Amino acid sequence: MAGGGPAGAAAALTLAHSGAEVVLVHPDAPPGWRVGESLAPSARPLLERLGVLDRVGTDGHLPYYGNRSAWGRATLTASDFVRSPYGPGWHLDRRRFDASLRAAARDAGVRHRPGSVTHLTRAGNHWRATVSGAEITAPYVVDATGARARLARRTGARLVHTDHLVAVTALLPNTGQGGGGSATHENATEHTSLIESTPFGWWYTAPLPSGQLVVMAVTDADLVREAGLRTPDGWWAALGRSRHIGARLPARTRPPERLAVLRAGTSRTLPAAGPGWVAVGDAATATDPVAARGITSALSTGMAAADALTANARGDDEAIRRYAGQVTEVHTEFLHARAACYRTERRWDTPFWLRRRRPPSGPDEPHRRGTAPGPRPAADGG
Ligand SMILES: Cc1cc2nc3c(=O)[nH]c(=O)nc-3n(C[C@H](O)[C@H](O)[C@H](O)COP(=O)(O)OP(=O)(O)OC[C@H]3O[C@@H](n4cnc5c(N)ncnc54)[C@H](O)[C@@H]3O)c2cc1C
Repeated sequence: MAGGGPAGAAAALTLAHSGAEVVLVHPDAPPGWRVGESLAPSARPLLERLGVLDRVGTDGHLPYYGNRSAWGRATLTASDFVRSPYGPGWHLDRRRFDASLRAAARDAGVRHRPGSVTHLTRAGNHWRATVSGAEITAPYVVDATGARARLARRTGARLVHTDHLVAVTALLPNTGQGGGGSATHENATEHTSLIESTPFGWWYTAPLPSGQLVVMAVTDADLVREAGLRTPDGWWAALGRSRHIGARLPARTRPPERLAVLRAGTSRTLPAAGPGWVAVGDAATATDPVAARGITSALSTGMAAADALTANARGDDEAIRRYAGQVTEVHTEFLHARAACYRTERRWDTPFWLRRRRPPSGPDEPHRRGTAPGPRPAADGG
């Protein structure tokens, strides 16, 4: 198993629960913030099945009560998780969340090997993986290395990109909030994600347990310069032109000193599995963060792939192929929902929005109209 994000940890835990011997190869994480903080309520039953719901619930993440969006019109629409059968989600401390899942895997008997898989070769019915100069032999390999699908590509699978979205991101102080989940804001809407479309793409903000706000300007990689988002000053000026995102910042917030440009594109790995290997999480299918479903998908594909490997080990020759087919189905559905979501914004004829109105161009693009889910609420599970 390579990669100890949510997908790798979920697969490792599920395999360990079924009695498999698992080695989880994962590099020691550098300190600091990690992207991907809004965990939809629909993740709860997955966490429960993994046996980690209580652990996550007491890890000091912030409650996440719903979404606010100005998309397709200037005014805000609210979508609350009050109707969700699962209750609220969480605004996560991602490092803590990922570490907690890996700790649960260790507790279940998974062996942790710090480092990265640098080489992978097939030898008969086994794989040989090189980790920090040493060799590990295993009958199965799980690629949980994230959107670059490093191991799947070594088996001959290819990455298919639907777009090249990036999130130009800053962390800003969120005075009056934070401290291990003990939010002090009176206004519960502060515990929501906020999204606002704009001519260059869209803005997003959410509170973090650290007492900060994550604020992102999301656009296509080739449009960052034109949108003036390359420098903190340009980014800040663009934020000043937003109607709702800027208004959520505490008074006297100063421009960020630095920005991080994060890849946020939609892609998938073709195929997502083959004889003796499976890709899970972003390594199987990475989805536009407009839907906030990446972590949920990482958990569910990790669990489904682990079940497929267990079935295969018990003699079901079709299990791995079925898993690859499920990934394709789910990804295709996602592309339909994403296309419908972007089509609901028609106020601007700028490159970002015109590209998303183009007719389908390839086998991975949706060929029919789906139901418009709207941004972020699509993933709320409620
Ligand atoms: C800008 C942005 C915003 C997002 N916002 C949200 C959100 O609000 N909600 C949400 O649900 N999702 C969000 N996502 C998506 C979410 O973060 C991902 O879907 C999720 O992290 C995928 O989990 P994963 O385990 O597949 O991969 P990752 O979390 O990427 O983990 C992969 C791990 O593999 C390790 N690795 C890499 N190569 C190797 C190797 N060779 N050997 C061993 N280990 C290796 C890496 O160090 C990494 O830790 C967002 C993504 C982006 C880019």
